[in-house]
Amino acid sequence: MLGFENQPRLLAIFPYTAEARSYISSNNFDLDAILTNPLFERVREKGKERVLSSLRDMKLGEQKLYNSEECKVELLSFIVSRMMASVIGDRFLINRLAVTEGKVAEERLNGDYSSMLVPLAREFGIDPQPWGDDYRLKFTAFLKYSSKMRSPEWKLLYQKMDHGYVVVGKLRLTRLVEQAITDYLSERLPPYTDAIRNSLRREIAEVTEALESIKKEYQRDTLGEIEPARYPPCMREILRQIQNSENVPQMGRFAIVTFLHAIGMTPEQIFEVFSSVPDFRAEKTRYQIEHITGKISSTEYSVPECSTMKSYGICHNPDTLCAQPWMKHPLTYYKQKGKKPRAASRKQQPDKPR
Ligand code: SF4
Repeated sequence: MLGFENQPRLLAIFPYTAEARSYISSNNFDLDAILTNPLFERVREKGKERVLSSLRDMKLGEQKLYNSEECKVELLSFIVSRMMASVIGDRFLINRLAVTEGKVAEERLNGDYSSMLVPLAREFGIDPQPWGDDYRLKFTAFLKYSSKMRSPEWKLLYQKMDHGYVVVGKLRLTRLVEQAITDYLSERLPPYTDAIRNSLRREIAEVTEALESIKKEYQRDTLGEIEPARYPPCMREILRQIQNSENVPQMGRFAIVTFLHAIGMTPEQIFEVFSSVPDFRAEKTRYQIEHITGKISSTEYSVPECSTMKSYGICHNPDTLCAQPWMKHPLTYYKQKGKKPRAASRKQQPDKPR
């Protein structure tokens, strides 16, 4: 425990800590009242704002926590936002909310709340030990959170080591704590009941509407509208096999599910695609699709790279675009096909895709 169970401001600022959970359970808050009583309208409204801000990639706003009542509203709004995410159950939304809370924590730990860095790191099992002006950590703790970071500077190979420990500065320790908070919030959601769903119906409808529009926008910005003409030959062949009721190997099914999901199809639309597979078993297929797309799991699986597709023998009918030296991924093919034709003068030498 961090020792701030009697400091409402800190409970509101770090609402995912054991202290905050203990405060909630020992104060016997009436969940039914929080969800339905007009006295808690501000809590529900703030909970919804938390979710909407994370979806719109906005900061959660500077919190004006002047008194214990405002701190309580802030803390309870966190609980409400998590319940909304749990009821809606959309992986994109859950991850955005978790990432936003993680980023806010990082800002606070780099700002006025830097004294909370080490205690918070300990709470998430990082256990930093002072090492001069830096800290040293067990490499297992380092790897647990750094493995999500893509930049090469996080590779274990490039770390300063001391007797089997990894040495990190304050900024990097803060980044690891941010990741720990993000993972924690993304992987654990509170259970919900039909009563919760019904009580929050209005707020959930508003969030769901915003979610759908942001997803469409996001998809348009990254991959454009779904266009079968842009599918790479491997995916077209797998789809042809499915449509002709041929048996598709398991890796082929995995690849097509991840691909269709990545270009914006919902699990339900993907399910429809599979309904003509010869050994189609509705419940099993639905489970697999929802698992791969992250609807019922904490992982949204990625589309396999071309090298993986090749090693499984499902890189079917590669064409001239596939033969480009930079073509490493079926989604690169899809993005490249969606680009507008270049000006005549530049046609001879296509740029590498970004
Ligand atoms: S090279 Fe890549 S994109 Fe082209 S068919 Fe093979 S796996 Fe698909």
